[in-house]
Amino acid sequence: METVCQGPSSWARSVFVETPPGIGPGVAVDPAATCQQTIDHIAQLLASSRSLLFVTGAGISADSGLPTYRGKGLPYNIDCTEDGLCVERALSGDLFEDHPELTWKYLSRMERMCRDVRCNRAHEVIAEMERHFERVWTLTQNVDGLHRAAGARNVIDIHGDLHNLRCTRCRHRETVSDYSRLAIPPECPRCAGSLRPDIVLFGEPLALEKLMMMLVELDNGFDMVFSIGTSSVFPYVVEPIQMAMMQGRPTVEINPSLSEVSDMVDFRLPMRAVPALEAIWQAYRRIVPMSL
Ligand SMILES: [Zn+2]
Repeated sequence: METVCQGPSSWARSVFVETPPGIGPGVAVDPAATCQQTIDHIAQLLASSRSLLFVTGAGISADSGLPTYRGKGLPYNIDCTEDGLCVERALSGDLFEDHPELTWKYLSRMERMCRDVRCNRAHEVIAEMERHFERVWTLTQNVDGLHRAAGARNVIDIHGDLHNLRCTRCRHRETVSDYSRLAIPPECPRCAGSLRPDIVLFGEPLALEKLMMMLVELDNGFDMVFSIGTSSVFPYVVEPIQMAMMQGRPTVEINPSLSEVSDMVDFRLPMRAVPALEAIWQAYRRIVPMSL
């Protein structure tokens, strides 16, 4: 529908009576200035919003230094070639069932990449927005736990969290800060069954309780929906954008690369998560001053 760093789409233009000066057919546009206009429009819409949804993917953690998998928003860039495996096979439920030690080898590499990584300003801004607005939820595909580390509470980690382990045989669960003290592959301390991270491996279904939580919150609706750093290849991360569109709610994409939702959103910022969210938050705070 809209192009890069576009202003508001047709419905939103009716909200903003004044057309930004210098914007029009055949007029040369400074990309940075256009982005600032888009950011200011997003901030104005935020000022009349009470509920926000952030749909996040690997791109938001890329700003913390975690490499994305070929930019496709899949888990982190793990080299599995020494065993002749692609990442989708190495981290699959099928392989875990037959060879848990192989899957654990790569899970522990993935955890090692996350271990010294800290949440960044984009995670923090979302957590600050959660404290400021009436209702804010984050639906993340990331398994690194960085949204919660930044202080966000309303997080649906739809693919799970690497730090939460569960037994495949009994009901034992535990949370670890990292895997440094785990024998790989780890055993359940209660029944000696195989422990596994409570994440969705490739080929496995989503956890029903998280899916239900997501559906309940989507049913409640959001005044604005943001898609940040995700290529949006999964239908359950596209659906919130589609639902917002159908409800006439503004949608924003923050992503340096084009994604499956780029043609759907009302506002597209081809920026990394940290500068974009910081700029939006600053623009909002110029409209709605507050002490944080
Ligand atoms: Zn057990």
